[in-house]
Amino acid sequence: MNLDQQDLELIQNRFRVVCERIEAALQRANRRSGDARLVVVTKMQSTEVIQAVVEAGAQRLGENYAEEAIEKMPAFAEHKGLEWHMIGHIQSRKSGLVVQNFDYIHSLDSVRLAERINRQAAEMGKRIPVLVECNSGGEESKFGFPAWQEEQWQALVPEFEKILALPHLEVKGLMAMAPYFDVAELARPHFRKIRKLRDALANWLPGGCWDELSMGMSGDFEVAIEEGATWVRIGQGILGARPLLAR
Ligand SMILES: *Cc1c(COP(=O)(O)O)cnc(C)c1O
Repeated sequence: MNLDQQDLELIQNRFRVVCERIEAALQRANRRSGDARLVVVTKMQSTEVIQAVVEAGAQRLGENYAEEAIEKMPAFAEHKGLEWHMIGHIQSRKSGLVVQNFDYIHSLDSVRLAERINRQAAEMGKRIPVLVECNSGGEESKFGFPAWQEEQWQALVPEFEKILALPHLEVKGLMAMAPYFDVAELARPHFRKIRKLRDALANWLPGGCWDELSMGMSGDFEVAIEEGATWVRIGQGILGARPLLAR
């Protein structure tokens, strides 16, 4: 596919508009400018499309599949400071690729995976920032530690203690994906729940850092920011519909 000038401008305009909407949502919530950062989700998108948004100023790209992302990375080797964020479920046999090639993991969804990543990071002499993924809606299609009912939360403490003890992981906070709703407002209770869980964890596990909340996507990021998101992950709202690349 060849991007024409019009496609390129459309992507770059949408990027700027989303950045403005992030700032406006922070203001509405009486939060400081820059307190919520954008990960542009580039899964299934071509390097041309990604190039357009990087030129517009995107600094962090989110991908769901390690191998797909690794194929794209060389095209951006010259962009110093560009970060690659893993946001999708990590199969255990792909975890080494993730540790080697990504800057940040949003989707740490089991203690086993945490232990594996810790071991691999140790071998590579790295320490990798991670967010612990929680399932706020109880949907079977979603990964993450079970957190849809408050009664489940206490049981997470011993699990998260094991993760906090791993020296090559730098736990930063939580990640969640609200269920899909046509109306963004309906996602608000999910974001509020995750923030409340974060506050509980900060209390129960004060030795850990729980500052970051990665929540909010194209359809609901403003609500997520109003409820405390520090990372939003936005794909289609900037890059347009994802083409169905064969993979
Ligand atoms: C695809 C994806 C997104 C972005 O979704 P959009 O609707 O394109 O904004 C965000 N987070 C995760 C985990 C995703 O898989």
